[in-house]
Amino acid sequence: MSNQKKNKESGGIDAFFCKVIVTVSIAAAALFLVCVVLSYATKHLNNQDTMAVRVAMEQPDIEEMYLTPNKYSRPGKSLDKVNGVVVHYTANPGSSAKENRNYFEGLRKKGTRYASSHFVVGLEGEIIQCVPLNEIAYASNKRNDDTISIEVCHPDSSGKFNETSYESLVELVAWLCNEYGLEKDDIIRHYDVTGKMCPKYYVKHPKLWKQFKNDVFKYLDEQKNKVEAIEE
Ligand SMILES: [Zn+2]
Repeated sequence: MSNQKKNKESGGIDAFFCKVIVTVSIAAAALFLVCVVLSYATKHLNNQDTMAVRVAMEQPDIEEMYLTPNKYSRPGKSLDKVNGVVVHYTANPGSSAKENRNYFEGLRKKGTRYASSHFVVGLEGEIIQCVPLNEIAYASNKRNDDTISIEVCHPDSSGKFNETSYESLVELVAWLCNEYGLEKDDIIRHYDVTGKMCPKYYVKHPKLWKQFKNDVFKYLDEQKNKVEAIEE
């Protein structure tokens, strides 16, 4: 075989591979584009459809005690999208939900810092809402703009939630996940935003944090089964 022919043949193979590579690249790029568009559309639809209840689920008992609009704790800025729920602990052992709510209200006059939360879950399982869900609260730093915040009371300095508060928290977070179409990974700790030791006990015990998220989705599944049982 002459060298010339060999070269010609290998040139043909090169061109073939070149075509294959170009085709694969175009296909990969197209696939990537489809993925981007789909993920955007999914998020967008979720946000638009915030009130579409996936499970006919009852809202937990919530006592509305909205803060007076003020720049330190209820700035009145609209919360346009909800991409997560952030859990905090009050870092004030033994204090009640109402006391924590009143502390936020007091900032209006004191003006010592910017702080608030959409909800405070108390030691007796009571849930107090301080800020409406279509407004931002000052709790989770850079995630204030797209999350709902929950402060949880705790009996002692370990920061561990008591059983009653824990149960209310599970119900509240499950309800919010259902309302906003959130997934397990959308439930986060203040720690996951800034690295702050909050909620303390569930930063120190990551397994219990994981357990909490599982408990939320187990509760959601139970609600789904209830609805299906009624429908059948
Ligand atoms: Zn916090």
